[in-house]
Amino acid sequence: MADIDQITNLIKKEISSYEDKIETSDVGTVVSVGDGIATIYGLDKAMYGELLEFPNHVYGMVMNLNEDSVGCVLLGKDSTIFEGDPVKLTGKVVSVPVGDGLLGRVVNALGEPIDGNGEIVATDTYPIESPAPGIMTRESVNEPLETGIKAIDSMIPIGKGQRELLIGDRQTGKTAIAIDTIINQKGKDVICIYCAIGQKNSTIAQIVSKLKDHGAFDYTVIVNASASESAPMLYVAPYAATSMGEYWEKNGKNVLIIYDDLSKHAVAYRALSLLLKRSPGREAYPGDIFYLHSRLLERSCKLNKEYGGGSMTALPIVETQAGDISAYIPTNVISITDGQIFLTTDLFNQGQRPAVDSGLSVSRVGSSAQIKAMKKVASSLKIELANYNEMLDFSRFGSDLDPTTKSILQHGGVLMEVLKQKQYSPLSMEDEVIEIYVAQSHQIDNVELKKIASVLEKIRSHIKANHNEVYTAIKETKLLSDETKALIDDSVKAILESLE
Ligand code: ATP
Ligand code: MG
Repeated sequence: MADIDQITNLIKKEISSYEDKIETSDVGTVVSVGDGIATIYGLDKAMYGELLEFPNHVYGMVMNLNEDSVGCVLLGKDSTIFEGDPVKLTGKVVSVPVGDGLLGRVVNALGEPIDGNGEIVATDTYPIESPAPGIMTRESVNEPLETGIKAIDSMIPIGKGQRELLIGDRQTGKTAIAIDTIINQKGKDVICIYCAIGQKNSTIAQIVSKLKDHGAFDYTVIVNASASESAPMLYVAPYAATSMGEYWEKNGKNVLIIYDDLSKHAVAYRALSLLLKRSPGREAYPGDIFYLHSRLLERSCKLNKEYGGGSMTALPIVETQAGDISAYIPTNVISITDGQIFLTTDLFNQGQRPAVDSGLSVSRVGSSAQIKAMKKVASSLKIELANYNEMLDFSRFGSDLDPTTKSILQHGGVLMEVLKQKQYSPLSMEDEVIEIYVAQSHQIDNVELKKIASVLEKIRSHIKANHNEVYTAIKETKLLSDETKALIDDSVKAILESLE
């Protein structure tokens, strides 16, 4: 029968085209293992960054391609892996789940849930590394990302798609600023990602509960590579978090991503580089330490309308030692970002919180995204504070001060007081404009410093009760017209009179 011939032909064809898919170069052997690093013999076809499969579902990532061996970092516990174990190539790169299923979840550096709330329902998976969007797909920063923190929104404004560094010593309120910024995105259609690198799990638990208290957890993802995890997990975490953000960015959403902090990330990378026997450079960091952070932060940008108009704003955090911003990692990250917010221990201890140093903090692109009303009221703030600080040093020497110096000192003192702000209480842009306008128009220069906060509070409630149109006017026109100013002045007068 013809059918049998056909079938034999088919089988012959299949046999001739059969090739042995499991080649020896697809399976290697562990030569040595320890400290989260494995050296493998026999994986000739391994690619850089490829995912490797070890026994017991442990995975690793190729980091070194040597002549006769492959160096790999383990993304899991190394205690179940031994010399002589087989290792398989997977042909895939390390990927993480992306999509709305991540919102309100705490995941590890591989996107696996660690909050005990069940599986993540992923829309897709993205590789953890991807090239930064090209210049033709981008547009300049043109929309403010409101932090709700007066000192920042007025003097160091951040725009959507900007990369602004938060830098300062230990315990200067770096994380506090980042968390307040997340809380302030409520109702603003911004998705937030908090990537914790080398933090204590207890700190993360606290952050989660604070975000829940303020109704900010529903639009937030926490990627946690804690201090107790291996260096490779800390190394992978920010890239994984960025890939998660890119999903929303590509779909036209605005994303805010916080890396807390990149100093610990650099230290983890140094540890695994040394274990991989790469040669150490300055401060024992490997030669590509700059590239480590530049390829991460380059991925944050504002896409133009043609590409959906999404954005990813990055707030990397770097810890300094004794305020030294000229150390290796700080200078690297400062040169990659579009500005820095510098927090100092001195200001923090003096009670000036948030402890923003107005002289050393800059935002190189954000001011183009500031609303007109804010731009107008805050334009001379930085210079006035600089004058104030200069006079303050000077006034310590002599007691006899001329009236101009006295008024600069008095006004500066009021400004510093106005810029103080409690944690977890971000303000709306309208409130910020009103408070800074009141301070800058010298109307409260004679108020006792310790009463400033309560006076401002009273003025705001007076405006809300009697001239609510002030709020709608600023919100809708983004301007501060003379009529609006007159209404604010009216409330200020009423409150100041009530104090007497
Ligand atoms: P670390 O170096 O440990 O990460 P950090 O620089 O991130 O510290 P935070 O943890 O944010 O600092 O803040 C340190 C302490 O200061 C916390 O107890 C926090 O509650 C407090 N703090 C931060 N900001 C303010 C603020 N604006 N007003 C009052 N207290 C604040
Ligand atoms: Mg912190």
